[in-house]
Amino acid sequence: MKKILITGCFGFIGSHWTSTLLKNKNYKITGIDIKDKPKNFVKNKNFTFKKISIFENKKLENLIKKNDFIFHFAAIPTPDTYINDPIKILDITAFQAVHIVKLCVKYNKIIYFTSTSEIYGKNPDVPYKENSSRVLGSTDIDRWCYSTSKALVEHYIKAYSKHNGLKYIIFRLFNIYGPNLNGRVLDKFIDKALSNKTLTINGKGTQTRCFLEVDDCMNAFYKIFSNKKLLNNTFNIGTNKQTTIINLAKKIIKLTNSKSKIKFKSYKKLSKLGYEDMFLRVPDPSYLISKTKWKPKVSLDDGLKRMILSIKDTNKK
Ligand code: UDP
Repeated sequence: MKKILITGCFGFIGSHWTSTLLKNKNYKITGIDIKDKPKNFVKNKNFTFKKISIFENKKLENLIKKNDFIFHFAAIPTPDTYINDPIKILDITAFQAVHIVKLCVKYNKIIYFTSTSEIYGKNPDVPYKENSSRVLGSTDIDRWCYSTSKALVEHYIKAYSKHNGLKYIIFRLFNIYGPNLNGRVLDKFIDKALSNKTLTINGKGTQTRCFLEVDDCMNAFYKIFSNKKLLNNTFNIGTNKQTTIINLAKKIIKLTNSKSKIKFKSYKKLSKLGYEDMFLRVPDPSYLISKTKWKPKVSLDDGLKRMILSIKDTNKK
């Protein structure tokens, strides 16, 4: 049986990946998280939960030693935190992740690391290939601390792979959404729309994102994980279908039958808070497609409907 450690097992990506893996009875999974959230998989006999923070180095080291594959997902991918608590972002996303990478080297374990589309920053030259340039703003802008943290970890992974034989996969995630998402534009807009509160759009709303439903993301993960020949690769995980934020807001208001209004917040005000936006962020997923024949299946409308239902369900509890 393959032994797998998942950090952040109750987080957005972690919980979906744990559920996905548990469908296959050949995996013994240990999940760690700082929060003990009730999830449908906690009673599965192939799953063990340990309430451990990634800062508990001794316990973490023991777990890494005992497992074959390490999925390091624990992070805080929420732009509000990039600007409100950049130190926390740097400590968790950069330094503890580097520590985990080093432990994987020490014990010869395979690491699967969720990186980010934020890596490419505001490079206007879209779509991004995995080797596209990173174009970031000044370090005066706190927002870039997340991109920089993930890039630092990627550098460590690639350097250890080259010099010490570390085996790895890096997933660069492009605006994945679905049930349990927290702190991003989609859950914020749905929450507001369901309670008829005003949706706030940063700038004019002409900026775009390419949204990918989490089941399609899990499918990509599984295809990559199932094929050992793909090790030591970095993959963009996303679609190239762009949606403007204003259209997203209108769509959500319509799908929820909401009376919410839309207001606009100027970028001038936001920049004073340490925020800078990206006007577009488009992946080129052709490398992933060529290696795995992956194809996204869920339309934005269907994905939004599923997410709205799930948020309504949670609100009832
Ligand atoms: N956004 C917005 N209003 C909000 C939250 C986000 O207009 O309440 C915009 C944000 O400026 C960005 C896009 O929605 O252009 C996606 O933001 P998100 O926070 O989901 O993360 P990002 O894709 O920027 O990493």
